[in-house]
Amino acid sequence: SVPAAIASSLATAARRGLLIKGGAVIEALAGVDTVAFDKTGTLTIGRPVVTDVVALEAAEPRVLALAAAVERRSSHPLAAAIVARAEAEAVATVMAEDVAAVPGKGMAGTIGEAAVFVGAPRHAAAWAPLPEAALAAIDRLEGEGKTVVVVVSAARAVGLLALRDEPRPDAAAAIGRLNAMGIRPLMLTGDNPRAAAAVGEALGVAVTAGMLPADKAKAVAELARGGRVAMVGDGINDAPALASAQVGIAMGSGTRVAIEAADAALLHDRVGDVPALIGLARATMANIR
Ligand code: ADP
Ligand code: MG
Repeated sequence: SVPAAIASSLATAARRGLLIKGGAVIEALAGVDTVAFDKTGTLTIGRPVVTDVVALEAAEPRVLALAAAVERRSSHPLAAAIVARAEAEAVATVMAEDVAAVPGKGMAGTIGEAAVFVGAPRHAAAWAPLPEAALAAIDRLEGEGKTVVVVVSAARAVGLLALRDEPRPDAAAAIGRLNAMGIRPLMLTGDNPRAAAAVGEALGVAVTAGMLPADKAKAVAELARGGRVAMVGDGINDAPALASAQVGIAMGSGTRVAIEAADAALLHDRVGDVPALIGLARATMANIR
């Protein structure tokens, strides 16, 4: 019977670490023609490392200390990397107050009297003018495929941090497999266009960069009007985009918010489980029809 076939597929999927929230999701998955991926933590491992600390108006240890003070309160993968580097270098611990995430942009807080912002260069301009030396360093580092964050204190750009995140080992094969299944893969990211392009080229996937979380949700909703879209993400910021797709898929190591917003979760964090999931759904529906 149909319910039995669906129940059997859900069980098979669960044994492979593919959690599917109900039979309707299988039917939707079988019809997917486009898969949009978030970059950081989804197509990449999501454990970036700090590669460069650039002193502008403060020495390197101070740049790290200010950044770590606000990043300690963030669950973003970039934040973990910055805090780890600050700890590795044993920089002085600085206390920040009123710390809050600026979604898709960075983190903000106050340290003493100074307003502090740590985040993307194009959003840092709203907090401090970026001097020529900063722009040149950002240009060079982004050209190396790195993600750059600006550390702003009291309306001055005091330093820069550059980070690099590696693609997941199975991501290129997963993209190839989706193409072979006649499914269009896309990458949507809030990262800078050049860091995004470096990952896109390595994986063979088309990229749209510089997107805020709301832009991702809008882009997915737009795609969903013209086709059947699955969105794959891991972060708090990805929840609106996951909800805008016909099928939202969360990485298992992702945030609870993403997993709750999703229709399916990949417990083993393998990108290759995305084509596997769609293949299983197609086979199930073919059996029923
Ligand atoms: P992605 O689409 O790659 O998952 P996000 O939307 O989470 O990226 O973030 C987009 C950009 O905003 C990052 O590349 C970074 O420049 C900046 N950003 C976001 N959160 C933080 C943070 N906690 N610290 C520093 N920068 C951040
Ligand atoms: Mg992410």
